[in-house]
Amino acid sequence: MRIRIVGAGTMGRGIAQWAVTAGHTVELADARPEAVPEAVSFVRAMLERAAAKGRMGRADADRAGAALVALESPYAAGGAEAPGLVIEAVLEDLGTKAELFTGLERALPASTVFATNTSSLSVTRIGARLGDPGRLAGLHFFNPVPLMRLVEVVPGAATREGVPELLAALVAESGHHPVTVADTPGFLVNHAGRGLVTEAFALLEESVAGHPAIDRIARDVLGLRMGPFELMDLTGLDVTASVMDTVWDGFRHADRLRPSYLPANRVAAGLHGRKSARGFYSYGEGEPGPGLPEPRIEGGDPARAVRLVGDGLAGLGTPREPAADALVLVPTWGTSVSAAVAADGLPAERTLGVDPLSLGTPRRVLAVTPATDGEAVRDAVAVLARDGHAVSVVRDTAGSVAQRLLASIVNVATGIAERGIAAPDDIDTAVTLGLGYPHGPLAWADTVGSARILSLLRALAQETGDPRYRPTPWLTHRANLGLPLRTPMPGLPE
Ligand code: NAD
Repeated sequence: MRIRIVGAGTMGRGIAQWAVTAGHTVELADARPEAVPEAVSFVRAMLERAAAKGRMGRADADRAGAALVALESPYAAGGAEAPGLVIEAVLEDLGTKAELFTGLERALPASTVFATNTSSLSVTRIGARLGDPGRLAGLHFFNPVPLMRLVEVVPGAATREGVPELLAALVAESGHHPVTVADTPGFLVNHAGRGLVTEAFALLEESVAGHPAIDRIARDVLGLRMGPFELMDLTGLDVTASVMDTVWDGFRHADRLRPSYLPANRVAAGLHGRKSARGFYSYGEGEPGPGLPEPRIEGGDPARAVRLVGDGLAGLGTPREPAADALVLVPTWGTSVSAAVAADGLPAERTLGVDPLSLGTPRRVLAVTPATDGEAVRDAVAVLARDGHAVSVVRDTAGSVAQRLLASIVNVATGIAERGIAAPDDIDTAVTLGLGYPHGPLAWADTVGSARILSLLRALAQETGDPRYRPTPWLTHRANLGLPLRTPMPGLPE
């Protein structure tokens, strides 16, 4: 197909490289005259590199490089060679995008399909000023386009039937994975990603742990490639904060998506992350960045007697030794250590919480209360570290760090499913491809047990009183029925 890409910046270049590699002819245009030749050289250099590294045949790279056509104006008529598709990747501004498409509508035949790569604007609003809004849909790529295999296909309210299907087929034929997503704030991936980061900020707001500890727990207990703060440093906190606000505002301040007060001042101070060399971590010369050495808690007695409360800690393998000064370890599942102390009359100074989710992972997570004595903390660390596990110590909270992050990821994802924003399988695929999580959130909940996730959220909601943790009906119904969370909505008779 002949594809015109307008906007030859970061995304336009990536989309161009992907499209010529897949065999399409790509016209490139930009408002800045110098941007087009720069983008053509950039894409040719990337193709050259792919050929040099053997990732692409030499002849294919040459052919793809020759399929790039520089245009002097986005509005070039094209005549008999008019493009079948225009993909817009210009400034993220509604007026700019709407004006571009109305100009393109005048210049190009009615058969040319329009696609916008907007990440946060409404596709419907971008198309609203067109004479024929039916020809436009969203085609949301991720950066870097050649490596990020996911593309969200977003029909607007007025998009004609057949247009999203055509775009999805083109994406699939060209080697990427399309998912169809309703025109809603954040679409799918940026909405699903709010579960992790808003909860990470909530943990920080409540001083449950510092950001390096939260990142370590996210990596080691949940198996995420990157902790939430590390990730925000990579994405740029300015970008993340704006997405958090857009999604929260767009969903009319739904509690589940509530952002923290914390990012605003950090953004104003320029603590954006890697691109400004300072974010949650420092990235200057010789700085360790997120690879910060972990503080060690030494001097504890690994042989101290331990009393385990309840059944949730069986995985610890520690014998139940009745001893007067035994440490008391309680499992926290949406609950706090302090609540267990109060309910069961446990000795506060030597009672600590253990996150059952952390058992069976490389890192065990202990929770301490304001009443826990220092010796008990050191001994508990030594006991939990006995068989070579890393141990994190966090402050008492309902649930624990990993539980709260996972509960939020799952609850937000089930909210997406229940609003019909995307099909359940597509939610899981998009999150694994777009966010790099080890599992799709719905399948992840099923692995842990949807009934357990439901009890976790219910306990969190009850102890905190925060409606943020109210489990969605999607989750509640499927857990009650013993069905996988990926079970789609039942059809209804017309
Ligand atoms: P960018 O600033 O790198 O590139 C934008 C390009 O558009 C520039 O070359 C600019 O000169 C050109 N431009 C601006 N107004 C124009 C106009 N009226 N006509 C023609 N050209 C114009 O930006 P980017 O990061 O490539 O983002 C482009 C779009 O893609 C935005 O809508 C953005 O939200 C979206 N997006 C970005 C990312 C990302 O990670 N960067 C990911 C997904 C989607």
